[in-house]
Amino acid sequence: MIDFTALIRDVPDFPEPGIVFKDIMPLLADAERLRAVVTALADPWRDASLAAVVGIEARGFLLGTPVAMALGVGFIAVRKAGKLPGPTVQETYGLEYGTDTIEIHADAVSAGDHVLVLDDVLATGGTAAATAALLECLGASVAGFSFLLELGFLDGRARLGDTRIERLVLVDDEAGD
Ligand code: AMP
Repeated sequence: MIDFTALIRDVPDFPEPGIVFKDIMPLLADAERLRAVVTALADPWRDASLAAVVGIEARGFLLGTPVAMALGVGFIAVRKAGKLPGPTVQETYGLEYGTDTIEIHADAVSAGDHVLVLDDVLATGGTAAATAALLECLGASVAGFSFLLELGFLDGRARLGDTRIERLVLVDDEAGD
């Protein structure tokens, strides 16, 4: 059994005071754990008849692309506003302070596509919920969500309805345990 938490680094007060940032870069830099994490993220979805994996900028790209390859499907990017060149649809959602906007190419999915949404961290759930809203606006259906790490004390899953959620690591309290 591979320990994923050993190489996830806590960075206190980043990017702002009071936030404990979960830095997954040391985990990605370790060849054995990188391979194991991609396999573990892909495994629950092997029989889900997915059309694609949708990764959220930016660490959702790093994990989502190899997971898509492991599942034998394509990868679709959800990006911060202003980065995608083609016609897009946008969703704006609330953060603790202010708002953020994400977008997807309007032709990225087809109506009826069954897709997996993947990101590194589930925190308040706002980003994942906004991604689901974008996909549903284009007629796709969200088969589920997959995260490397869930910050359980923020209860982000409450914003994701009853859609299936898989995650590899649960952090139960703000101290990082
Ligand atoms: P949220 O919308 O609050 O669920 O935040 C999720 C997004 O913010 C993900 O794309 C994460 O990469 C990032 N994020 C939120 N909180 C953290 C954290 N404590 N450490 C690392 N990334 C985080």
